[in-house]
Amino acid sequence: MRVGLGFDLHRMVAGRKLILCGVEIPSELGLLGHSDADVALHALTDALLGAAGLPDIGILFPDDDPRYQGADSALFLQTALELCRQKGYNLHQADLILILDYPKIAPHREKLRDNLARLLRLPPERVGLKAKSTEGLASEKFVAAIAQVLLLEDGS
Ligand code: MG
Repeated sequence: MRVGLGFDLHRMVAGRKLILCGVEIPSELGLLGHSDADVALHALTDALLGAAGLPDIGILFPDDDPRYQGADSALFLQTALELCRQKGYNLHQADLILILDYPKIAPHREKLRDNLARLLRLPPERVGLKAKSTEGLASEKFVAAIAQVLLLEDGS
């Protein structure tokens, strides 16, 4: 088995959509980034790549490559899953922590987790999603994500 850890953080700004776990969430502020800036899917992508010993998201999908401008980050996640499979590993479980003060995730949690399960092709009970605040300690608005994955070797 292999475990992988991923982290990402994006600043929140006006005039951008807020997309988390592949779901658009109603919000006055969205995440700034070259792609759709889905910090949750970026952290999961890096966790998968790390578990399989592959190069990280910034190397595989450079943020100065026009092909990825405004890209749906599900593309990065699907590519990482496929690269893991090519190395003989299948995703067994994923766990994700979002860190943000705004907006509240609780009303959207089930929808986000179900979409993660769909994108990861896992049953929802093998996908964890938690949201934590900064307890008001952050002077800037942002969303950070920490992801952990467990991969199993083919046939195990
Ligand atoms: Mg990112």
